[in-house]
Amino acid sequence: MEFITNNADSTMKLGRKLGHFLKSGDIVCITGDLGAGKTHFTKGVAEGLDIKDPITSPTFTIVNEYEGRLKLNHFDVYRVSDPDEIEAIGFDEYIFSDAVTIIEWANFIEELIPKEHIWINIKRSPEFGNDYRKIFIEYYGDRYNYIKELK
Ligand code: ADP
Ligand code: MG
Repeated sequence: MEFITNNADSTMKLGRKLGHFLKSGDIVCITGDLGAGKTHFTKGVAEGLDIKDPITSPTFTIVNEYEGRLKLNHFDVYRVSDPDEIEAIGFDEYIFSDAVTIIEWANFIEELIPKEHIWINIKRSPEFGNDYRKIFIEYYGDRYNYIKELK
């Protein structure tokens, strides 16, 4: 599916819609250049999970954990030079848990991502303006068949 947003709020709103649907154990991968809007999308997802704490980028900590309707593990693996580093912090225990997991820059650790996941790519197109974003959402695996109304 493809969505177009023209400001950060609309990207958050799309994240919020997805967040409303998410279930325990779901995995959301987000890719896109620096400043694409991955963290803004994540803020929206957190709202959809009824998380009240502000979402801050875990760039230096690799993962932040939040509590809402469900728990949320928010990874940013931008600074990870080797997927082994992520395995070493117990990645599998985070993703195979009852929490929802969101991973910014998931393309850096693709080999660690389970087959069933949601893959989101956010793309800028400067020719359409600074705030224009195209957001692609793809669902891999039957477990996400339940998300049908995100249109
Ligand atoms: P990333 O996590 O991908 O590096 P951030 O979400 O931290 O990106 O930052 C995105 C930046 O782009 C913010 O400054 C935000 O205000 C701005 N922005 C402008 N238009 C949009 C849009 N349509 N969607 C998301 N962010 C946008
Ligand atoms: Mg970010």
